[in-house]
Amino acid sequence: MDTLRYLDNVATLHLDGEACVGCGECTLVCPHGVFEVNEHKAALVDLGGCMECGACANNCPASAITVSPGVGCAVYIIQTWIKGKERATCGGGECC
Ligand code: SF4
Ligand code: SF4
Repeated sequence: MDTLRYLDNVATLHLDGEACVGCGECTLVCPHGVFEVNEHKAALVDLGGCMECGACANNCPASAITVSPGVGCAVYIIQTWIKGKERATCGGGECC
């Protein structure tokens, strides 16, 4: 998803490729297309799209995914809508 993105390279999402059984559940529940499954293994194809909602980790039957639930810094995301990505700043709260 190109229009709703968090900061690049900060998502806490981790995929254990060895544990993955290739069921594809993560590709079904992720609202942002972060995963793809090829040849029975999941891969992260858009880490920057992860909003740390936790749906993938909660639905992975192999416990192959970990992510620290967050809000995807809603302040930053809303500012990118209003000001554009170049002028958006984080809210500077306790999270950062
Ligand atoms: S839900 Fe878990 S086991 Fe299934 S494809 Fe995704 S990472 Fe692999
Ligand atoms: S935490 Fe949510 S947005 Fe991030 S990869 Fe998992 S389902 Fe997708």
